Amino acid sequence: MNYQAILNQIQKDIKPYLGQGKVADYIPALAGIDPIKFGMSIHTVDGIHAHIGDAQENFSIQSISKILTLTMAIAANDAGIWKRVGREPSGSKFNSLIQLELEQGIPRNPFINAGAHVITDIICSHIREPKEAILEFVRMISMNDQIDFDYAVAQSERETGNRNLAMGYFMKSFGNIHNKVREVLDVYFHQCSLSMSCSDLSKAFLYLANEGVIPSSEKAIIPKKASDRINALMLTCGMYDSVGDFAYRVGLPSKSGVGGGIVSIVPGEMSIAVWSPGLSESGNSLAGTKALELFVNYTGKTIF
Ligand code: GLU
Repeated sequence: MNYQAILNQIQKDIKPYLGQGKVADYIPALAGIDPIKFGMSIHTVDGIHAHIGDAQENFSIQSISKILTLTMAIAANDAGIWKRVGREPSGSKFNSLIQLELEQGIPRNPFINAGAHVITDIICSHIREPKEAILEFVRMISMNDQIDFDYAVAQSERETGNRNLAMGYFMKSFGNIHNKVREVLDVYFHQCSLSMSCSDLSKAFLYLANEGVIPSSEKAIIPKKASDRINALMLTCGMYDSVGDFAYRVGLPSKSGVGGGIVSIVPGEMSIAVWSPGLSESGNSLAGTKALELFVNYTGKTIF
């Protein structure tokens, strides 16, 4: 299959969708991003890659970082993970507090904010320098030593992150955050601020398409079973409050972020990353979702 030709076609098809949707502005440092940006990149487990548009331009990966920290927490072999975080879609907004009260401070899944806070808390309990460890991990899996936090974005989130802090303290009141809330949230704001390109992201998450192993170096990141399970969680919980619609249209384990990025996995075959900052009502990249839908239509690469 000529993936570059398919991506070139998508770049033409996507034009009417660019600029639609709304750039996330609740984090002030994200508000000024050009809504017309669009990039897409694929890396296959066999070493083929293809890119279009702004695929080499860095953007704020935001919630896509929740896959990184979940992988690190699983790799740390923390036996308590699934007693402290659920594995069900939440059916409510990614930053909602309501369910936490009803469910005694146990977040529904690791991909809503509260769940990601617990996962980051687990990492803080296992690793002395968690921010450095996250950087080291993401640089290793993407094979790019230049990847860094965007400190202005992290600072912007810290200054406006009252809802995240509220969630952290609320969970702490139930005993489900073990470290200092401000320290856990500092790590969380930094992981969300990671600045990466579509090309970096599609390369980084190849281990999820290859049974937990980086194909080029054959380095095992997590066991196959854990990789399968992260894919299962991405499919059921990775796309905010529209996982059902996304599974219907695209049918791939995916995770999006409010920066407008989406990572999708074709198990056994490839990792795809797409970026366009305009978000739909559900908070997912509008053009990015359309591009993935087109990719699946052109290639037949869906898990269903
Ligand atoms: N840093 C963002 C927040 O906590 C992440 C949101 C997201 O991408 O879903 O609000």
